[in-house]
This record gives sequence, structure tokens and C-alpha cells, in this order.
Amino acid sequence: MAKRDTPIWPPSEDTLPLGLGPAEPAASPTEDSATQRQPGLLLVDDDPFMLGMQSRMLRSMGYSKIGTAASADAALALVLAGRAAVDVVVCDLNMPDVDGIEFLRRLGDSGFAGNVILLSGEGPRIIHAVQKLLAGRPLRILGALEKPAGRAALRALLDRWHPVAPAQATDEARVPACTADELHAAQLGEQWVLHYQPKVDLQTGALTGTEALLRWNHPVHGLVYPDRFIGLAEDCGAIDALTDWVLGAALAQLSRWHQQGLLIHMAVNVSMENLRSPGFARKVGALVRHSCLSPQDLTLEVTESRVMALAPEPLETLVRLRMQRFGLSIDDFGTGHSSLAQLRDVPFTELKVDRGFVHGARQSPLIRPMLEGSIGMAQRLGLQTVAEGVETEDDWALLRELGCDIAQGYFIGRPMPGDQLHAWLADWQARRPREVAG
Ligand code: C2E
Ligand code: CA
Ligand code: CA
Repeated sequence: MAKRDTPIWPPSEDTLPLGLGPAEPAASPTEDSATQRQPGLLLVDDDPFMLGMQSRMLRSMGYSKIGTAASADAALALVLAGRAAVDVVVCDLNMPDVDGIEFLRRLGDSGFAGNVILLSGEGPRIIHAVQKLLAGRPLRILGALEKPAGRAALRALLDRWHPVAPAQATDEARVPACTADELHAAQLGEQWVLHYQPKVDLQTGALTGTEALLRWNHPVHGLVYPDRFIGLAEDCGAIDALTDWVLGAALAQLSRWHQQGLLIHMAVNVSMENLRSPGFARKVGALVRHSCLSPQDLTLEVTESRVMALAPEPLETLVRLRMQRFGLSIDDFGTGHSSLAQLRDVPFTELKVDRGFVHGARQSPLIRPMLEGSIGMAQRLGLQTVAEGVETEDDWALLRELGCDIAQGYFIGRPMPGDQLHAWLADWQARRPREVAG
């Protein structure tokens, strides 16, 4: 029998531990979604029984490129030697010498940019923490499963594997950090674009409004997303002019929609820096009047990008905005800077649960109570509840069950140019979930 540490690639039937009985029958063609684009799998577990059981199960599901390694060192040697095209590493977190965390760190440092599935008997909190630990590495975590992993759950994660990284992610990764000079040039060259993401009523499916999301139409890099430049705009003093432009463009779009009979709301993101400038509340009031709209048509979504206590100036601006009847939303609720203290101190009208607590909540014994708790608390405080990051019908259904008011996310519609909203609406009315149709 092979030495425990010897990696096995490609595996042959006689590498399986003895005494496990006959292999399960091969998967039927209809069950098998894996044969068309087969990922090379590497199973890493110190327990040979587990290795054998997993590889037999995967084989019976139609996967044929399966290698095994009984230790982290063996797995690393195999990947680094390039002897096997490993696309997905299925890794046990608990191994005696080098544990799963150290193994994955080393794997990431080695330049391996493949996919990883974590297996563990440690329970959801540890698995979740490890996923977070690895988030900044080039490895892509397809998901985590408690041992022993079942067929359906493994297949669901392996179905997330793509042979090539999505084009958008690669392009975005190549965009270098922006400079203050470029921001200034963008301002002069009118390179800003707004996309609008629909928000719909969870009970009726009706469109209630859109959120304006800023993009930079960069002459070289194409469409650049705000995470790349909002922080810089805040640092170099350009955020006030940028927000003025966003407010002007979003309100112009909203009045066009109102003239067309589409009586919806608009949400605009404002930075805490904007709220520091003393004339901000008055300026927003004047802009809304100039567009023949009312303050109730506009919600300002506030998120804190830096760690700092809510200073008196932003608080004063928020109170004055609310006194004019603008909607105020606490954005990204549940993340570091969007806290109970802010909720206590600011007269918010809406709580927007961060997408990290929304997508996949039904399956997560960790996240679901947090989603339920946030929605329940907002309801008791009399706030409108909005969930962002609604990516699947299952996310949608859970939010309905929990009595959340409004949903936003890829399941409903991606951010889009304003002139595409009517076409999106026709499509949504045709495909929206059955229980809210008609
Ligand atoms: P945000 O306010 O939390 O906006 C939602 C972000 O989530 C958007 O990213 C949106 O495209 C993305 N998103 C929407 N639905 C889904 C979904 O189902 N799944 C996933 N994974 N993502 C979804 P985007 O447009 O890249 O914006 C990122 C952030 O940049 C925004 O986060 C907001 O904080 C900031 N931002 C955007 N526009 C502006 C602006 O005009 N001014 C300021 N100050 N900040 C802005
Ligand atoms: Ca927002
Ligand atoms: Ca958010």
C-alpha cells in the first residue's frame, strides 16, 4: 500500500483503502453536470478512510480527475510540482501536523489561484471565521461543508466552479489604483455615469424605487466601480463635487421617470464627509425643489467608511435633512461602521441590512439569526426594512417569511443605465415570483 504521505495522481482504483466494499455505481448521465467541464480535484485529509470514501463518492457523481493527499505537505508538493492540473482543493481543516489554515495560507502564498472547498467537523462559527481569514488571498473559497459532506451539498459547491475566472473580476483586478489627478480630469471630462438598481416590494413585487450607483467611465480602463475611487475622492477633497453631480443626475432621472408616470423613489449614497459640510442639508433641499420633486422622493443612504464616532457636524446635517422630510437610510447595517449606536443617535427612517447577512441566510445557522434579529429590531423601531444582495429565489422567499419590506439584488435586477429601466420592468413583471405575480 502507498505510504500515507504519498500524493496519488491520477488515482487508480487500487489506491482506495481496502475493505470499503464495491464502489457505488457510476452516475447516470442526467445526474451528472460535471462531465462537460471536469475540474481536477485534489482531496486533502489525514484520514485515509475519509479520503477513500470521498473519492468514491465523487467518482460515482461523475467526476473522474480526482487526486488524494494524506497530508498538507504532500498536497503542496503535488500542486507545486505541477504534476496535476488541480482546479479545486477539497481540504480538511483539522490535520495533525500542518492544519488546514496553515496549508491554505501556504497554498495561497505559492501562487495557487484555484478554488477551495473547506471540510470540517468544527461547526459553522469556525468554518465562517476561516472563510473570512482567507478572504484576502487569491484562493477562491467555493464554500464550506461540515463533515461528512453529502453528495448534494458537494455537487452544489462544485457547480460553482468555472474553468476561467469571470472576465469582470480579472478586468477589475487589473485596474490600477486611481490618482487624485485622474479624478480631477474625470470631473472636467464628465466621465461619471449613474447606474440604477431596482428596489421592489417583497409582498407585491411592485417597483418602489431605485438606488443610484456611481461608475467612472474611464477612457483607458472602461467602467470602474466605486470601491476603487470613493475613498480617494474623500481623501482628496473631491467628494463634495462628486456628490453634487450624483444628486443632480439622479434627481434629473427621477423627474423624467415621474413625467413618464413612473412614480418611484430614488436613493443616493452620501459619504460621511458630505455631511460634515455645513451647507449640505440646505443644498439638497434646493436641488429637490429645483427638480420639482419633494423630499419624500429622495432617500439618502449613509454609510461610514472609516472608524470614527459620529461627530456633531454630520449628526446636525442628518437631523436637518430629516426635518425637511428626506428619507434617511442606515446602509450596510451589521458591518463594522454601521452600528447600534448610530441607529440610536440618528433619526433614520430605513434600515438596510448588509448583503453579508442576506444571501444564503436560510442555509446558514450563523447568519440567519442575525438577519432575523436585524429585521425584527427595525420593525420594532418603526423603520422600513430593506435587504440588499438578494441573489436567489430562496433569499427572496426567506425575506418574505421574515416580513422584510423591500428587496434589492441580482435576483431582481442588476444596476443598469436609466434608459433600460422600462425594459427591465416589463421583464420583471413577466418573471417575478409566482406568489406576487398578477
Ligand atoms: P452599497 O451602497 O452597499 O451598494 C450596493 C452594492 O452592491 C453595489 O456595488 C451593487 O452593485 C452591489 N450589489 C447589488 N446587488 C447585489 C447582489 O445581489 N449581490 C452582490 N454581491 N452585490 C450586489 P457598487 O455599485 O460597486 O457600489 C459599491 C459601493 O460604493 C456602494 O455600496 C456604496 O457604498 C458606494 N457608492 C456607490 N455609488 C456611490 C455614490 O454615488 N456616492 C458614494 N459616496 N458612495 C457610492
Ligand atoms: Ca447604498
Ligand atoms: Ca450596502
